[in-house]
Formats: sequence, structure tokens, C-alpha cells
Amino acid sequence: MSVNYAVLVLNASYEVIHVCNLKRAITLIFKGVAIVEEETDMVLRSPTISIPVPAVIRLLRYVKIPYHRVKFSRKNVLIRDNYICQYCYQKFKIMDLTLDHVIPLSRGGWDGWDNVVTACRSCNNRKGDDTPEEAGMKLLRKPRLPSVVTYLQIIRRLGEEKKEWRRYLFFDHEEENPMEHQQEKYLISST
Ligand SMILES: [Zn+2]
Repeated sequence: MSVNYAVLVLNASYEVIHVCNLKRAITLIFKGVAIVEEETDMVLRSPTISIPVPAVIRLLRYVKIPYHRVKFSRKNVLIRDNYICQYCYQKFKIMDLTLDHVIPLSRGGWDGWDNVVTACRSCNNRKGDDTPEEAGMKLLRKPRLPSVVTYLQIIRRLGEEKKEWRRYLFFDHEEENPMEHQQEKYLISST
């Protein structure tokens, strides 16, 4: 069981906020900040304790999320790029991915959504301190700040493979959750 295993995080109101790794999820649970809403069939074992691996956790206190901006972080860049190396267009596991500065830092590049992309180790090595043009490599997509709507769509796509996430991500017409609809409207009107 990898600590990078993705766990869906809900606000106290059941809105989807983001995805965190298993280690972070366990920390939040043990601190009493979050509770488990859905478990997987897997069990996490240590010498002293064994607990079911959480699939979905929910924060106990409502956290006000500023919806205008997705935070710039390694995790979010990987999610934006859907874990696909932007130079060889192949999908990798989180641990095999790196972040690449399109314009290298040594050449005046910067840390930001519009200059950082997901790259596999071998493409990152190959590119080195070159620009993509110099290295003869072509970006899959020009990097930019993802909108919150895009970000949530990507989380949904990730969740297609996770049955425990489904009821929080997809609308089921027989069992509609009015909170999810509210959330959807709010997000669309705010962008
Ligand atoms: Zn690659």
C-alpha cells in the first residue's frame, strides 16, 4: 500500500474539496480533524494497529474554501496534467513523475502554473537545462492555471476507477443530493 494512495476529501457539508494522500488522510483522522466516510477493502497494518484503508474522508468542521484559485503545488500540477508526462504523453505512477520547468530556473524560468509541467524522469533528464525547442521536445499542452471547474472534472475522472468515490462525484438521478447541485451551480457561476 503506497502512501501516495489517493483519498477523496470532503468538506463538513459533503462537498468535494480535494484529494490527499493516504498518509495525510490517516493524520487527519488520528488528529480528530476528519472522519472516514467510505472504506476500501484493503487494510493498513502496523505492528500495533490495523485499520481499513479510507477511500473518502470528511472534515468535521466546515472549511471555507476560496474558489477563485487552485493552489500551486506538485500534487495539483500532477492532477492538472492527469499524471501524463507532457513530453512523451504517457501516464505514470506518482512516484515516477517529476516537475519540469519549461523554461529552466537557470535560464530565468519561474515556479508557477504557466511554467511547470509534469514530466517522467527520463524526459526530465533528457531535457536537462534546455528549453523544449532546444531539446527537440514538444509539450502535450501549454501549461496554465486550471480553473476550479477543470480541477473538479479531473478529480471526477480520477474517481471513475474508484467505486467508493462515486456517490460523491457523480450524479445519480435516483438518489440526487441537493448539496451537490448547489455546489455545481456555485462553481460554474464563479468562474
Ligand atoms: Zn516522459
